[in-house]
Amino acid sequence: MTVVGGGVVGLTCALELARAGHRVRVLAADPPERTTSAVAAAIWSPYRAFPAEAVQRWAAVSLGVLTGLAGQEGTGVTLRPGTVVHRGGGPDGRWDAVPGRRPATAAELPPGAPAGTRCTLPVVAMGRYLPWLLATCRAAGVRVEQGRVDRLDDVAGDAVVVAAGLASGPLLGDGSGVPIQGQVVRVADPGLPEWLLDEDHPDGLTYVVPRGSDVVCGGTAVEGATGTEPDPEVEAAVLARARALVPALRDAPVLSRAVGLRPGRPAVRLERVDTGGRPVVACYGHGGAGVTLSWGCAADVAALVRCGVGPSA
Ligand SMILES: Cc1cc2nc3c(=O)[nH]c(=O)nc-3n(C[C@H](O)[C@H](O)[C@H](O)COP(=O)(O)OP(=O)(O)OC[C@H]3O[C@@H](n4cnc5c(N)ncnc54)[C@H](O)[C@@H]3O)c2cc1C
Repeated sequence: MTVVGGGVVGLTCALELARAGHRVRVLAADPPERTTSAVAAAIWSPYRAFPAEAVQRWAAVSLGVLTGLAGQEGTGVTLRPGTVVHRGGGPDGRWDAVPGRRPATAAELPPGAPAGTRCTLPVVAMGRYLPWLLATCRAAGVRVEQGRVDRLDDVAGDAVVVAAGLASGPLLGDGSGVPIQGQVVRVADPGLPEWLLDEDHPDGLTYVVPRGSDVVCGGTAVEGATGTEPDPEVEAAVLARARALVPALRDAPVLSRAVGLRPGRPAVRLERVDTGGRPVVACYGHGGAGVTLSWGCAADVAALVRCGVGPSA
């Protein structure tokens, strides 16, 4: 069978399918380092992905798998403590799956933050995780090929998984996807022990995710924007917000910068959409949470494929 797409979602699906006994080929237009997945911060965080109930279930599965990978040689996954700032009024159930979470004390909150949750989450250094995922896929027998798909009918295989991020909708006649542009700037890590997420910061989305070799500072979330060139003014604003919340970053030099287009959709599409007389599974629209949902979604994809195709198909 063929998985179209070799970002974090496609590769994780391919790995789960291979582990379930299928013969799997990945067909991807770009190498992993040129995908949106490579731009992700990436912290386990159910951000801008819907619907809430399914997202919580998928995220909980991934939390378990990523926690298990943390510290394993070469994966790029670590477990780190940090604070989620809450500025909205209502309860935020997205963190309910995280064991050991607790309300932040006033001393643990950044200046001006009214409330927060303290917890320990997986942080995934994508520059190491994607190569690990690729190598693990190959070791499980997955063939990974470069190629752009324009029509699903042209894709060989007795079953197809469409996991091509933003490009998935057009392949399936679905126009409901929307890019959500995000800009990040990576600075040298001064040895920051903790991450910080402040989605509703009055001056804009703000997060600081240390990864050892660098610290990812974000961000933006501009719906419908399609540019992928970093904007120096946006970068200056992102850095100013991050440095105000985390003064230890004040002198940290900028190492790199990036813009990615999150595959936004009113709801993640994960369902059988059989066409051409064969099983086709759609798995896309993960918004700002593709890493966070990847293992839970891949397990569901493997279950959906199982209903239509036997092992080794
Ligand atoms: C700034 C930023 C920060 C983020 N931070 C986080 C975070 O902290 N945590 C988190 O969970 N998520 C985060 N995300 C979201 C996450 O990056 C995405 O949800 C995720 O990368 C989507 O993965 P994907 O595999 O579906 O898509 P992509 O990574 O876009 O991969 C798509 C794949 O499909 C291939 N493809 C495209 N078109 C075709 C075609 N026609 N034929 C064949 N192949 C094709 C591409 O080459 C690529 O291999 C962030 C995103 C951004 C932009």
